[in-house]
Amino acid sequence: MADQCLFCRIVRREIPATLVAETADCVAFRDINPQAPVHVVVIPRKHVASLNEADDPQLVGRLAVVAAEIAGREGIASSGYRTVINTNADAGQTVFHIHLHLLGGRRLGWPPG
Ligand code: AMP
Ligand code: ZN
Repeated sequence: MADQCLFCRIVRREIPATLVAETADCVAFRDINPQAPVHVVVIPRKHVASLNEADDPQLVGRLAVVAAEIAGREGIASSGYRTVINTNADAGQTVFHIHLHLLGGRRLGWPPG
């Protein structure tokens, strides 16, 4: 399962990605199909399929803290940004390794589509 997981493969550097942050537990990289001027995906190194399977509050929290740190570095902390975890079909989750999207650099509509 984790063998073939796209994001596990990025963690193992088997697939290239533009990394923007690495911590002991998390990796962040630019989304290959950006939906905003800043679109970064933050993932845990550990394979967790979705928020439904997440049982470590610290790990989920770290995704958000890493995203906030990147937002600061990317210069969008005060203009604003959105962090999103899509879960399963209705939210459009396509990669089943939990990830937090960091989106910013433009005005984001609400409610999301
Ligand atoms: P989601 O639809 O919430 O599951 O988000 C998956 C995200 O991963 C999408 O925004 C994709 O554009 C992005 N993505 C898929 N493959 C790659 C890749 N190889 N490198 C970077 N981002 C990717
Ligand atoms: Zn994985």
